Amino acid sequence: MNVATPKSRLTKATTVAETGRPSRAEAEAAVRTLIRWAGDNPDREGLVGTPDRVVRSYEEFFAGYEVDPVGLLERTFEETDGYDEIVLLRDIRLESYCEHHIVPIIGRAHVAYLPHRRVVGISKLARVVEAYAKRMQIQEKMTAQIANTINDVLQPRGVAVVIEAQHQCMTTRGIHKPGVSMVTSRMLGVFRDDPMTRRELLAMIGRASAPIGE
Ligand SMILES: [Zn+2]
Repeated sequence: MNVATPKSRLTKATTVAETGRPSRAEAEAAVRTLIRWAGDNPDREGLVGTPDRVVRSYEEFFAGYEVDPVGLLERTFEETDGYDEIVLLRDIRLESYCEHHIVPIIGRAHVAYLPHRRVVGISKLARVVEAYAKRMQIQEKMTAQIANTINDVLQPRGVAVVIEAQHQCMTTRGIHKPGVSMVTSRMLGVFRDDPMTRRELLAMIGRASAPIGE
């Protein structure tokens, strides 16, 4: 059923530049400029189609700006036979882009909530992760946005989001430290207030089994 949801601070209005969005041709011209800045010739055969491909790639990388995460969670189910234990979606592949360097952040997210009377389709939790990941991000903000949205819309007894990811701005440039992953978490409701519930969740998430990137 549909429920009333707080739309105000969660919609894309604050992130999409609704005025003055450049044209596709302007975006392609900007890529040509960057190619020349890097020291190559955008008119040579191998690069002539690159601005078009880069702009198309940007449409994929940043598709999250077109998605309303609140809308994804509005359909819920109440026939749960009183299910009141943790629901955990583990190892959600995460591909995001560092807002400081616009290079990939690759990792995985674990999203859990403790339902209060209603549940949501599990694929929707993964879609909320994607809606925020496919933007220019920092991991801390993304973690909080995912948890806050689920909390505000579903109003469950608790929400937990844990993200572990590698930042290519750290592994392929700058200090060049491959193998380092960053872990962030946002705990709300019972996951924040009740140590036993939090411990149960962390046991369910367990140790990372597969290397990040697979
Ligand atoms: Zn960065």
